[in-house]
Amino acid sequence: MTAPKGKLSKAGAGVKPARVKQDADFIFHELTRSICPECKQVIDAQIIIRENKVYMRKRCPSHGWFEGIISSDAEMYVDSVKFNKPGTIPLEFSTEVKDGCPLDCGLCPEHKQHICLGLIEVNTACNLNCPVCFANAGIGFSLTLKQVEGMLDRFVETEGDPEVIQFSGGEPTIHPQLLDMIQAAQDRGIRQVMVNTNGVRIARDDRFLEQLARLNPVIYFQFDGLRPETYLTIRGEDLLETKLKALDRLHEAGLDAVIVAAIERDVNVDEVGALVEFGLEHPAVRGAVFQPVTHVGRHIPFDPMQRVTIPDVIHGIVDQTGGKFVLEDFVPVPCCFPTCQVNSYVFVDGEKIVPLPRMLDVDQYLDYITNRALPKVPDAAVIKQALEGLWSASAVAGTEKTAGQFQCACGPGQELGYELSHLKDHIFQIAIKDFMDAYTFNVKQVMKCCVGILVPDGRIIPFCAYNSVGYRETIREEMIRSQTTAQAPNLKP
Ligand code: SF4
Ligand code: SF4
Ligand code: SF4
Repeated sequence: MTAPKGKLSKAGAGVKPARVKQDADFIFHELTRSICPECKQVIDAQIIIRENKVYMRKRCPSHGWFEGIISSDAEMYVDSVKFNKPGTIPLEFSTEVKDGCPLDCGLCPEHKQHICLGLIEVNTACNLNCPVCFANAGIGFSLTLKQVEGMLDRFVETEGDPEVIQFSGGEPTIHPQLLDMIQAAQDRGIRQVMVNTNGVRIARDDRFLEQLARLNPVIYFQFDGLRPETYLTIRGEDLLETKLKALDRLHEAGLDAVIVAAIERDVNVDEVGALVEFGLEHPAVRGAVFQPVTHVGRHIPFDPMQRVTIPDVIHGIVDQTGGKFVLEDFVPVPCCFPTCQVNSYVFVDGEKIVPLPRMLDVDQYLDYITNRALPKVPDAAVIKQALEGLWSASAVAGTEKTAGQFQCACGPGQELGYELSHLKDHIFQIAIKDFMDAYTFNVKQVMKCCVGILVPDGRIIPFCAYNSVGYRETIREEMIRSQTTAQAPNLKP
């Protein structure tokens, strides 16, 4: 009998040293599904932990191995699992289960959550040409008011009582019927309307601003930093003065804004603290949203092993704000998958700043896995419900609803001493959202996504699937084709 392959014969024993098994340099955390960054084929993906960082590692049969970082703090990543709340099923689905997630969007009956925040991209045109633009703005389509009304009606059918709609683009403020679209959303009883804008038209057009103010949407305001160089890199031109002017004009017009910063490695990670401080002081700003740059559409060259993740932003805010915040002030959002978003809230009264997680143990209320008992305080269930409202993708800074939830969450004995209409000006929201790209795309997360892009054909497609899997490109082509067909008769002599 021959010795098994790899084993030494007696004659050879003692000549070669025994081989020693090596430990892997990573912990295998879990197996999930993802896509190939090259061909978008759905493939298996491993989530591994190495030196307290979390990576996604996967192999495409045609394009080989890929690896990218998904969290720079493994402890935070693993700990977030307990904030996973049971989803709420939408009233209606728009597609069938056929090819499996993420190819059946949507929503298909396999989806695990309803849509907290609906997005309508009203156009693809823009008055800027940013090097970083997940929507890849440019030539494409412009929705009609009729199409938008149809999409809003479908949103009402699937949600019953939709909470938030956000008009986006391209640049929605250059769409000639944006104001009518906002009105159409309000007419359908959608509680909160937001406009996602670069602010250029707001800085320059008095009449438009006046009309916008009458409708009073919350302005989701692109604001990446306080240095001209940041804008030169991310937006292709120095927009700082334009942005500051637009924010001042929003305040004069009585509109509330949430500043939204795209964060890129070696560009503005060191500005996150200054952005929070700026937001806390500016009278128009009710919150700050940080979005590590999503490497889809147009983006500057990046290394998937070095991309910015949620813990980088949290650590940045803690380190750069002189002791105002600690890591525990930031809590994962349970309505989506809890690795998608982290929120914090601050009560601001002049110089006094108190993060909500210092007033009560938010962890204890929002821990859905270990089934910890609710604290023995009066109205604990009501407090939990208020916290669930705040730690949701549908929470909009600067609204009386959010202020009311904050007041309620503070609990008995913590009266903040303001009418709701004034309290809303004293509540500041910080949100950090890590949208996925082809390197980090995790089916597990997108199946519980609560941010959906509304499409004219009635589908509602989870945001990260829309951007990473190929829906954006296909729908844009379809829209261009259908517009060309619709316009064709007019082109004839
Ligand atoms: S992301 Fe949701 S809607 Fe899309 S295929 Fe997966 S389960 Fe269905
Ligand atoms: S990122 Fe926004 S402002 Fe910049 S080109 Fe794209 S749509 Fe326009
Ligand atoms: S948009 Fe992306 S990051 Fe946000 S909840 Fe949906 S899947 Fe998660």
